[in-house]
Amino acid sequence: MSSDVAISVRDLNKIYGVGSKNEKVALNNISLQVKKGSIFGLLGPNGAGKSTFINILADLVRKTSGHIDIFGLSHDEKLKDVKKLMGIVPQELNIDPFFTPYELLEIQAGLFGVPKNKRRTDDILKLLALEDKSHAYARTLSGGMRRRLLIAKAMVHNPEILILDEPTAGVDVELRANLWANINKLKGEGKTIIITTHYLHEAEELCNEIAIIDDGNLITKNTTSNIKSIIDRKQIIISLDDENPNLEPIMGLNLECELNNGTLIINYKPSEIRINKILDALRLSNIQIKDLTINETKLEDVFLKLTKN
Ligand code: ADP
Repeated sequence: MSSDVAISVRDLNKIYGVGSKNEKVALNNISLQVKKGSIFGLLGPNGAGKSTFINILADLVRKTSGHIDIFGLSHDEKLKDVKKLMGIVPQELNIDPFFTPYELLEIQAGLFGVPKNKRRTDDILKLLALEDKSHAYARTLSGGMRRRLLIAKAMVHNPEILILDEPTAGVDVELRANLWANINKLKGEGKTIIITTHYLHEAEELCNEIAIIDDGNLITKNTTSNIKSIIDRKQIIISLDDENPNLEPIMGLNLECELNNGTLIINYKPSEIRINKILDALRLSNIQIKDLTINETKLEDVFLKLTKN
């Protein structure tokens, strides 16, 4: 296997309650690879199978069948080594309130058997911008700080892969951007990061690649920009300075256009017409442009289209 693959999953299946009347296929033949040093997003509606996937990686749920390799090591045969390569950040914000971040990281390092001279407690606290809170009681930390502390805890054994289940759930909007910056910083350190998220905007901002799962099936997996291009549609919105513009050249392109109260909206398919051609027609029209915006497809549009939810 090439060394730039962090996680390779082949034909992964999970059926809960096999043979019972509540039998449920939670993962149906999932195959995917996660590139080393990337941020990989696992998206899907509630009940899609995201937690099941992550819990199988974390060895909290037993798979029904399939193969998983972590940096070329078999998850079945080398589980102990594989676990050292992964740090799991749980969804819930449970933190013992009577310890300080410094103490919590030291305890965690002890649990992982990290020798005292190999511990990086101060470095990790700094990396996650918690150095000012090192010795404050955890109960005094904000939601965003708690989330960062959970990430810090998952890093004490210096894992190559960090798995974050809904990293910004319960974190308010302002702190979200800060948390994203911290996650990007970890990527900058060469870590491979997997996140599950409900927030499509978050996946769009953070992830290099995205897999969308729905009802246990892998619907698509690709780079974020390729996934967005599934919907072949862009929109140009022009605010005009002319009362009666000559729109003939634009109309001649046979695009879907609309002029309303001095605003011209042009819808086009990037695969069918180059933006240059539209701009040339605008120039020919000799119209005065006050402002111009181009709307891209949102991940949300693709998500809704693919999951029909
Ligand atoms: P997600 O994380 O995407 O919301 P889950 O992986 O939690 O999805 O669940 C996938 C499906 O498996 C759901 O239909 C859920 O009800 C079912 N499921 C999850 N855990 C169990 C379990 N322990 N026993 C039976 N069914 C389960």
